[in-house]
Amino acid sequence: MGHFFFFIVGTILGSFLNVCIHRLPRGESLLFPASHCPYCGQRLKWRDLVPLLSYIILRGSCRHCQKLISRRYPLLELVMGLLLPTLYFTLPPVDFFPATAVTALVLVATCTDLKEGIIPDAVVLPALGMGILYSALFPPNTLWESVAGALLGGGVLTTIALLSRGGMGGGDIKLMAALGAWLGLGRVPLILFLSFLGGGMGALGLLFLGIKGRRDTVAFAPYIAAAVIVSLFWERQLLAWYFRLWY
Ligand SMILES: [Zn+2]
Repeated sequence: MGHFFFFIVGTILGSFLNVCIHRLPRGESLLFPASHCPYCGQRLKWRDLVPLLSYIILRGSCRHCQKLISRRYPLLELVMGLLLPTLYFTLPPVDFFPATAVTALVLVATCTDLKEGIIPDAVVLPALGMGILYSALFPPNTLWESVAGALLGGGVLTTIALLSRGGMGGGDIKLMAALGAWLGLGRVPLILFLSFLGGGMGALGLLFLGIKGRRDTVAFAPYIAAAVIVSLFWERQLLAWYFRLWY
């Protein structure tokens, strides 16, 4: 029962994240106008907005103009529906809220980065501010751990951006700072390490498969997202393995 409840809440959260992904890169408000079809502009009623179910019932197209609805909508609803109960039932209670916030953040950033090549300030700056505020008020982090995490995450990526002259975007820097703000200083090094490891392997893979050329820019947010999710679930095992390797 508990799993099902968190699954439903997850799909609703996923549905909200889809709205963020569609509207925030365009500078639109999240509240107004009400949900409408991006093609024909018809206002959508609640029965067209039920997570997962509406997509299945409408067979993936708009009720009014029959244009195809992006598969991202049901996919993200399903992903959040599966991740939310997993986070709730595997993490210590104190980590649940920050973990949910960063999961939502990295999924939105991944989608806007892949779709539009940007991570909007309207996503990362509020996330940074809320991460610091949350840490100042609630455990497991303190205000200082949060600010130090933001500075370390943002600082390392700023250094790389300067050294590589544009290899890293401003959106990636602010995203990493926001993650540091939510997760605290202690968790930033592993996330940085895993993102670079994944990003390096991913870039080589894309180059090798001929999908990207050597001068093409590659979205980095998906690797940050993968690093965050891996470190949320397997941080302890990875660190234990790492230390066993050296000592
Ligand atoms: Zn339509």
